[in-house]
Amino acid sequence: MAATRSASKSNMAKAGAFKTAAKPTHSGAPKGYKPTEPARVEAVLNALKKAYPRVECALHHKSAFELLIATILSAQTTDVGVNLATPELFRRFPTPAALAKAPLQEIEQLIRSTGFFRNKAKSITGAAKKVQSDFGGEVPKTMDELLTLPGVARKTANVVLGSWFGLNEGVVVDTHVFRLSHRLDLSQAPTAEKTEQDLIKIIPRPRWTMFSHELIHHGRRICVARSPKCVDCPLESLCHSSDKTWSTVWQHKPAKVQREAK
Ligand code: SF4
Repeated sequence: MAATRSASKSNMAKAGAFKTAAKPTHSGAPKGYKPTEPARVEAVLNALKKAYPRVECALHHKSAFELLIATILSAQTTDVGVNLATPELFRRFPTPAALAKAPLQEIEQLIRSTGFFRNKAKSITGAAKKVQSDFGGEVPKTMDELLTLPGVARKTANVVLGSWFGLNEGVVVDTHVFRLSHRLDLSQAPTAEKTEQDLIKIIPRPRWTMFSHELIHHGRRICVARSPKCVDCPLESLCHSSDKTWSTVWQHKPAKVQREAK
């Protein structure tokens, strides 16, 4: 997850900074297209909810503590990769108290496959120590408190607050949410932080957590970074992205629609 509060976090953040510059992404939009007007945003939200009615956090966890650690480890790697590393990590160090006392080298070896393992090992042991010393061994429930933990920036805090505590304090903006928010013209902001602020303004608060889950799911399955599968996309009629794979969409339009357009 993106990080900005320490030197080690800074290195991870630099390596994973979103590269997409703010640019107009729509093409072929109807006249008067206003991508963030409430009716259009609602249509996008409804289509996502209908397409992914039971989506949930892909990081395996059984407690707020496990979700916190898994989310810190998910920086610059896949959730699948994290899910392969965490069972043994949590088996050996199941609590903040245990992880706080864990030998750093042992942690590094356990999480090596997730990348940036030295920085991540410091972050997760540091977070465990702080949870133990400052919060009585319980993962805190507020944004301000979570942001005091090593390795935790807004995105990680939003994951824990939304997916474990059920609190909509912000919108998780990972690489998928960032990419799709731009493709769907919900934001043109150049950074994850500013994109989150744009989304907060237009998405009803009760939908913040699930919107992120749905968009992440959609970004993995359909709206992939290269050659999005627009022909299978439930948002196709609402999307005017210049990344759209027009040819495949077009081939599947009914013959009548193709004839009328000629
Ligand atoms: S139509 Fe294509 S580019 Fe637009 S959201 Fe769907 S998959 Fe992504």
